[in-house]
Amino acid sequence: MRYARSVVELIGNTPLVRLHSVTEGIGATVLAKVEYLNPGGSIKDRIALRMVERAEASGELAPGGTIVEPTSGNTGVGLALVGALKGYRTVFVTPDKVGEEKRAVLRAYGAEVVVTPTAVAPDSPESYYGVSDAIVARTPGAHKPDQFSNLAAPESHEASTGPEIWEDTDGLVTHVVIGAGTGGTITGTGRYLKAVSADRASGPVTVVAADPAGSVYSGGTGRPYFTEGVGEDMWPGNYDPSVPDLVEPVTDAESFEMTRRLAREEGLLVGGSSGMAVVAALRVARTLPDDAVVVVILPDSGRGYLGKIFDESWMREHGFALEPGQAPDAAGTV
Ligand code: PMP
Repeated sequence: MRYARSVVELIGNTPLVRLHSVTEGIGATVLAKVEYLNPGGSIKDRIALRMVERAEASGELAPGGTIVEPTSGNTGVGLALVGALKGYRTVFVTPDKVGEEKRAVLRAYGAEVVVTPTAVAPDSPESYYGVSDAIVARTPGAHKPDQFSNLAAPESHEASTGPEIWEDTDGLVTHVVIGAGTGGTITGTGRYLKAVSADRASGPVTVVAADPAGSVYSGGTGRPYFTEGVGEDMWPGNYDPSVPDLVEPVTDAESFEMTRRLAREEGLLVGGSSGMAVVAALRVARTLPDDAVVVVILPDSGRGYLGKIFDESWMREHGFALEPGQAPDAAGTV
C-alpha cells in the first residue's frame, strides 16, 4: 500500500508546470512551481513544519506546549495544521483588518484567534506583536516561532524547495524568480541553487526577487500596496540581500492582471503574489535565449482572494482593470 503516514509527509515535493499562454512570444521555458498543492494550501507549510521540529529538538516546545504567532496568513495555517497533528495548542494574534474568512480557517484547525486593533503603533502593547509577546510571557510552555527571524524558515527552503527545483529541472534551471515577504523563500531557495550550480559550465543560477513596487526591497519606503504576503516596510532578519542578483518591482495593477490571466488561461487559481512573481519572470524571460529555463514560485491559492482580485466590484473600486490592456477605472488612482 502506498500512503503518507501523516499529513506532514504531504508537505513539499510540489510539481513544476510549464506556462504556455501568458508566455506567448517568449522562447525560454517558464516553469511554475505550484505551492498551493501543499496540504495547508501554501508554501508556508514547509517553514511551519521545520520551525516546529526545530523547537522540539531544542526543547523550546514540549508535549502540552502552545505555539503563539502573530500571523493571520499562510504561516498561521501551516502552524495550525502542524500543531493540530502534533497535539500542540495554537494561538494566533491577528489585527482586526484581517478578514473573518482567514480567522475562520485557523479556527477550523482548532486554533484560538485573538484579534487586536490595527490602528495602533507597532510598538504599542495593544499591537499584535505586543499582545502575542504578552500571551507568550503568561503562558507556561509557550513558544513563538517568529517567521521573520527564525533561521528554520530559510533552512526549510534550502533543504526542500531549492533541491526540488534542481532535481526536477535536471540541473538545467538558469533563473529562479521568487517574491520576497519575510525573505525566507528567496534566501533559502536562492542560496541552495547558487551553491549547487556554482561550478556549472553555463554559470550559476540567477536569482530574481519580485517585489511589490513601494516595498523596501526595490528601494521603496514601505508605501502601501495591495498585493498580500510580499514586500516589507522594514528589512527582516531572514532576508539576505546578497542572494538576489536583481530585484524586479511590479505594480499591483500588473500583478492582479496576471493573477486573473493565470486562472483563465493557465487554469492556475493562485494569489496575487503569484501573479506578481510571474510578471517579473516574464519580464526576465523575454530577454533570454530559447535554452533558458526560468522557474517561478507560485506561493498560494487564489481561493483566499475571491473577494478581492477575483471580485469585479472590488477590482473596480480600487481602480484595477478587469481585462488585460483595459484602462484602469476612472474611480481609482491605485
Ligand atoms: N506570497 C504569499 C502569499 C505569502 O504569504 C508569502 C509569505 N509572507 C510570500 C509570498 C513570501 O514568502 P517569504 O515570506 O518566504 O518571503
